[in-house]
Amino acid sequence: MTAQVATAQGAAVPPTPTQHYCEPIAIGVDVGGTKIEAVMVDLHGNVLASQRTPTHRGNAAVLHDITMLCQQLIAARPGATAQSIGIGIPGQVDSDSGVIHSAVNLGISEFAVADEAAALLHAPVHVENDVNAAALGAMAVLGVSTRPNVADAFINLGTGLAAGIIRSGRIDHGATGICGEIGHIAVEPHRFACPCGQRGCLETVASGSAVERLWPVKHGAAMPDLMAKAQTGDAKANEMLDMVVAGVCRAVQITALCVDPATIIIGGGLTRAGQPFFDRITAMLRELASGSAFLTSAAIDRRIIAAPAGRPIGAIGAAKAAFIR
Ligand SMILES: [Zn+2]
Repeated sequence: MTAQVATAQGAAVPPTPTQHYCEPIAIGVDVGGTKIEAVMVDLHGNVLASQRTPTHRGNAAVLHDITMLCQQLIAARPGATAQSIGIGIPGQVDSDSGVIHSAVNLGISEFAVADEAAALLHAPVHVENDVNAAALGAMAVLGVSTRPNVADAFINLGTGLAAGIIRSGRIDHGATGICGEIGHIAVEPHRFACPCGQRGCLETVASGSAVERLWPVKHGAAMPDLMAKAQTGDAKANEMLDMVVAGVCRAVQITALCVDPATIIIGGGLTRAGQPFFDRITAMLRELASGSAFLTSAAIDRRIIAAPAGRPIGAIGAAKAAFIR
């Protein structure tokens, strides 16, 4: 619907084309291992436009791609001014300084991305860990209403495993920024080695990289193949899938018991396996709780929500994080 502008005499006149874009807008950028996606959103989080490009590695290439996408979005909306720009990026992110460390998949060891992007884009730039940004974005898209002083959680089953904790509508970073790094809780020290230097981390069984290692396929992605084979009754596939689902359930239980979130949103590449995957997760959570009155009363399985599929939650959340900073 076209907005009408009231004059001093009370008559309504249609807005000029540029008036529509004069409201504050923010840009959110989600930097992933294979693509960088940017969205322009209004104050209500509505996506007005989006752009994407394949990811190129290294500080200069990542900065170039981020600024190019932002400039394309701004150029396409005459009169628009970015009030803030948010960037969600993997690795160790210091949101206060805007410096990222150890974004290995992007070929970045250290990068003051916020300052460099702000200088080129002439707007304040805020940087978040990508999972934290996706947590905010998923909650916004799903319309999850936050309660004061109560947490909500987003568990990302992507290449790695991590959680974003939102408390009173804001990202909980913890004291040093490692809040939600549940993928590196070592639960089975006799088992698989983890790139972090420990053994038996949850991430070594409950993540996209784990599934690719446990269930190697010649073509395509491992998870759809694993799920399809398991559904046909293949014993080996069911054994592997049970191991993955058990790891996911431990991650869910740990998150639930540590922060008692009202909702636990599960997203990331593995969840493209869809409802059968979620059915296995909730069934195993109920089985784990079946002998425990305590766990049964916690009703952890009923807190789970699937992240919205096919929506740019990482970019939307990055924009939102910059807005509410
Ligand atoms: Zn680890």
